[in-house]
Amino acid sequence: MSLKARAQEKVERSGISNYSFDRDILVMCGVRYTIEACNCGEPGCDGVRLRKSLTSLASGM
Ligand SMILES: [Zn+2]
Repeated sequence: MSLKARAQEKVERSGISNYSFDRDILVMCGVRYTIEACNCGEPGCDGVRLRKSLTSLASGM
């Protein structure tokens, strides 16, 4: 399963339906998150980590 698919699963499990993908960036409530693999090995870990993307601050075109 791709990271993106895992991230989508994670978000939907949280009950969030208002999200979209911009290439490999997850956009929730106007905030962009980069999707990273997580290898912490904790039992509840789903193997994916969302990191708030700093580039969202510089999105003016
Ligand atoms: Zn983890």
